[in-house]
This record gives sequence, structure tokens and C-alpha cells, in this order.
Amino acid sequence: MFDAHALRAQFPLLMRAPGLIYLDNAATTQKPLAVLDAERHFYETANANVHRGSHRLAVAATDAFEGARASVARFIHAASSDEIVFTRGTTEAINLVAQSWGAANLHAGDEIILTTLEHHANIVPWQMLAARCGAIIRPVRLLSDGSLDIEHFHTLLSDKTRLVGLTHISNAIGSELPVADLIAAAHRFGARVLIDGAQAVAHKTIDVQALDADFYVFSSHKVYGPTGIGALWARAEILAAMPPWQGGGEMIERVSFETTSYAPAPARFEAGTPAIAQTVGFAAALDWLQAQDRPAIARHEDALRQQLEQGLGQIGGLRVIGTATHKGPVVSVAFSEAHPYDVAQFLDAREIAVRVGNHCAQPLLSSLGLQGTLRASFAAYNTADDVTSLLTGLSETLALLA
Ligand code: PMP
Repeated sequence: MFDAHALRAQFPLLMRAPGLIYLDNAATTQKPLAVLDAERHFYETANANVHRGSHRLAVAATDAFEGARASVARFIHAASSDEIVFTRGTTEAINLVAQSWGAANLHAGDEIILTTLEHHANIVPWQMLAARCGAIIRPVRLLSDGSLDIEHFHTLLSDKTRLVGLTHISNAIGSELPVADLIAAAHRFGARVLIDGAQAVAHKTIDVQALDADFYVFSSHKVYGPTGIGALWARAEILAAMPPWQGGGEMIERVSFETTSYAPAPARFEAGTPAIAQTVGFAAALDWLQAQDRPAIARHEDALRQQLEQGLGQIGGLRVIGTATHKGPVVSVAFSEAHPYDVAQFLDAREIAVRVGNHCAQPLLSSLGLQGTLRASFAAYNTADDVTSLLTGLSETLALLA
């Protein structure tokens, strides 16, 4: 039996604030000691710049940095660590793909299929590209339960489709997409598929080869790691054909004032000094999570979601938004009278941290006819008591506001 209480002891912030009920994990997770220690250990024992030194500290830093790349590759079952490009996070990874691969491969009239569930990070970079090259964005509708309208997806696919961008799990309402099937369908039309895994990596085992994706992107800070670091995975042959993105040191082979030749991937996409210590912390987070009983954590998080959804069913004046059968541990709530922001303020007074707003998914919220929702999202360290406190807090708050 998975013991969330025992796991909490590994999170210093949760230990310092025993009254805190942290239910904003889709925004960012708390960090275990293993991650904090790994960053500190790097600075205390191996701090130097990477890739360029001939002294032993530089070798130690490079080994730590490249070792971290290998951990990320292992975590998502990439064929090689050369397929991992470090970025600042999901947002930067998608911008990289849009500006490098997208600018080289998309032309006027080409189509980009995105879903109504997407986070702004998987919309705006494609819009910026489309504005430059004349491509057209085709959004896929949702069904009333917040799952994807798969039939509509199939009608949008055509020989004009160049790129399909799919969130693996919606950050706003939790819907999980059947990404393997959608990837296979897109590939039948020769389109490339980018999966936004920001909300999936902490909860699901990811095998990019089994999924047969073309690009998979995610952020360290949503999977127990530091902020400021994330990863783009792309298949080796796709990365090899992608032009450089940002120019500078580290990404070149030879530079003269006449011409520059570029390093092979992944270095070609990592101009400048990288976030070395954060990368080490990122790998420590993935190694830490891998060492846990991940199926048990997934069952635990799903049980918390169901406990919350069932409890919400007993409270008047609200409804759960997104009731798809396949969901991540995210619960979004809309109120018939109360303003979500007011409710969140009352909850905060009880040390319950939730998120309110449009969750960087304005097209989704507009399609649902909503301005915003209140969202609770779970991590491995949450407990059934957290859910009970939230339910009590919500019903008392709504009674007060009524
Ligand atoms: N996509 C999804 C589904 C997300 O939940 C988030 C973070 N809320 C992002 C993209 C953007 O991630 P980041 O801010 O770490 O770049």
C-alpha cells in the first residue's frame, strides 16, 4: 500500500508547513530533498562550466550535465540521449520546434491541427509561425464531457496537415487524450505530431518510442524538479534535419566571419551556458520518481480525484467541468453564483492552495462558456485528508457566500 504520509516527509516545504494543503500541483510541484541535495551537491563538488574546460572540475560538471541528459532519455524511453534537447521548459521547447522545424517545413496553406484543450504554450507559438508563413490553424472540438471529438479530429486530418499539436493531459480540466491512436492517424497523412507532456510526465509512464510521437515536450518543475529547465525530445532524424534556433557558443563547429558550421544535435539547439545545476536537479527528480512505486502513485492520485469528484457531487452551487472517462488527477469546478476567486481567497485563509482562472487555456474556457474555474490538482504527497479539508472548506465557503 502506497504511503503518501511517509512520502511527505521527503518534502521540506511540506514539513515546514504542516497545515498547508497544497492542491496546485498542475501549476508546479513541491521538491523532494533528493532534488535540493543534488543541486547543492553539484555546486559544492562539481561547479564549473560545461563542455569547454580542460580541467578536472569542468570534466566533472560536463559528466553531471550529460549524465542528466541520459536520465531524461531513460525516463521517457528515448532511443538515445542525443535526442534530448534541454530547454527552459515546455513553452520554450514548443517555441523551438515552431521556429526551427516549423519555419523550415510549413508554407502558405499548410494546416496545423490543435485541440481546444491546449494550453496557450501549444497555441501561441503556432499562431506566430502561421502569421509568418501563411499556415492555417484548425482547432478540434470537444464533446460535452471535455473529451476530444475524435470524429472531428479525423475530418480535419488531410494531406494539408503538416503538424498536429496535442496535450497529453489537459492542465485545465484533466482530460487525457488517446495520443497513440491520434499519432497513428496523423502519420497516415504524413503529418508530424508534437505531444505536450507537461501534465502527463508526473503521472504516467512515458515511452516516446511506443507512442511513436515526433516531438514530446515537458517541464521539470511539474515533475518534482527545479524551475527553469525542461526537455524537448525529437526523433534523431527529425532533429538532424532541423536548422539551428538561437546562435552563440556551444552550438557551433567552426566560426569565421564568412561562415559558420553548426554542431550536431542536441548541442546545435543549446546555445550559451545551460542551466547546469537545474539540469542536475531535473535528473535527480526523474531518478527519484522512477525509484517510487509509480503504478501505486497513479492509483493513489486517481483515488484522490474520484474522492473529490464524488464529494463535490454532494455540494450544491457548483459543477465539475470535464467528466471524461480518461482523466489525469485534475478537478476543475465552476460555481453557479460564487466567483471562483472569492472562493479561493476563503480557502487560502484555511491554508488550502488551489488555482483559479482560465489556466492559460482561454480558447477552452470560452468554448465552455466560462470565464474561469477553480482547480485542484494532485501529486503523490496529497492525502485523503487533503480532499476532506477541501470539501469541508468548499461547502462552508459556499454557505458563507450564499
Ligand atoms: N502545457 C501544459 C499542458 C501546461 O500545464 C503548462 C504549464 N501550466 C505548459 C504547457 C507550460 O509549461 P511551462 O510554463 O513550464 O513552460
